[in-house]
Amino acid sequence: MYVSVSNKCKGCGVCATLCPEVFDVCGSFVIANQEHVCGNEDSCIDAALYCPQNAIMIKEY
Ligand code: SF4
Repeated sequence: MYVSVSNKCKGCGVCATLCPEVFDVCGSFVIANQEHVCGNEDSCIDAALYCPQNAIMIKEY
């Protein structure tokens, strides 16, 4: 799974709450592990679904 966060991110922290293994809030934006074999891919997908800015993009390998 490949995860990236666009510059639409406002740093609300929803993604880091749902999937802290992948997303880390840093000030007003989020750092996502670019390539991550997530232990719980469903939580990562939830983060993308619930991002209010629609800033999270996920691609399957
Ligand atoms: S949920 Fe979206 S807007 Fe909020 S911190 Fe994560 S990527 Fe940014």
